[in-house]
Amino acid sequence: MSTERDCSRIGRIVRAVAGTEEDTITCDDCYDHIDQYVELLEAGESPEGVLLQVQRHLEQCECCEYEMQALVRMIQSMQESDDAPPTSGQG
Ligand SMILES: [Zn+2]
Repeated sequence: MSTERDCSRIGRIVRAVAGTEEDTITCDDCYDHIDQYVELLEAGESPEGVLLQVQRHLEQCECCEYEMQALVRMIQSMQESDDAPPTSGQG
C-alpha cells in the first residue's frame, strides 16, 4: 500500500511561513497522538505537552483538523448508540 499524504506538503509550507520548527510537529506525529487529543477534549481537560503541540498543529493544518473532526464525530456517534435512551414515566 503506497498512499502519500498531500498533507505533508501543506505542513512544509506552513512551517516555512511560520518560521518556527521548535514547537511544531509533523503530520505523522499529529496522527500518532490525535486520538489522545480527542479523548482529552471529550474529557473536558486542557491539552499539555505533546498534545498542546497537536492542538497548535491542528490550528495550522486543515488536513489533520479534518481527521480530528471525523474522529470526534465517530466517538460521539459511538457514545450516542452506547447510551440507553432516557426513560420517561414510572411503572
Ligand atoms: Zn497535519
